[in-house]
Amino acid sequence: MGEEKKSLLNIHSYAELARERGESGHLYHPDSEEPHGLIRMDLSEKILDLCRANSLWPMTFGLACCAIEMMCLGMARFDMSRYGFEVFRPSPRQCDLMIVAGTVNKKMAPAVITLYEQMAAPRYVIAMGNCAISGGPFATEENYNVVLGVDTLIPVDVYVPGCPPRPEGLLEGMFKLQEKITGQRYPFPQFRPPKDKA
Ligand code: SF4
Repeated sequence: MGEEKKSLLNIHSYAELARERGESGHLYHPDSEEPHGLIRMDLSEKILDLCRANSLWPMTFGLACCAIEMMCLGMARFDMSRYGFEVFRPSPRQCDLMIVAGTVNKKMAPAVITLYEQMAAPRYVIAMGNCAISGGPFATEENYNVVLGVDTLIPVDVYVPGCPPRPEGLLEGMFKLQEKITGQRYPFPQFRPPKDKA
């Protein structure tokens, strides 16, 4: 992969910069020497973030057993569409969320990077399961082909540990991502147990 991967990782750093701008509301990076814009877009950015967080479109993309739990989250029992996480799209160009569910091996790594680059920006990544986070049970000396964490290839926003994590775990990870995008916990209003049961 060599040079090609290096240039792709350069693009990632621009994606990070764009995300930081989005979060800070500055047209220019706060550390840069360029002057800040006269027009502040804070409010419109907040509204856009609210829209982004409540309309995440994940990619139809699974690598191993964890993907079965991810599929469960889309089915009637858990029904992730209740929270706006609609809909699984088959094309990365129509997605803004990649859920890396399963083991990433070195043969798959360039495809993961390419898919990430093809997604619409701003884009987010959830590492689902121990394999995606750190290589999981396959991270042994003999397994020369396992990538020890997808965050060595692309930036990860939320980690959902487990082998496999249950669908509720992934749902919690999606809520964490919403919180990261908007700075606020959803769904809103939050559930609070009645006082007599607390
Ligand atoms: S973390 Fe466990 S369940 Fe998930 S892909 Fe790896 S081995 Fe399978």
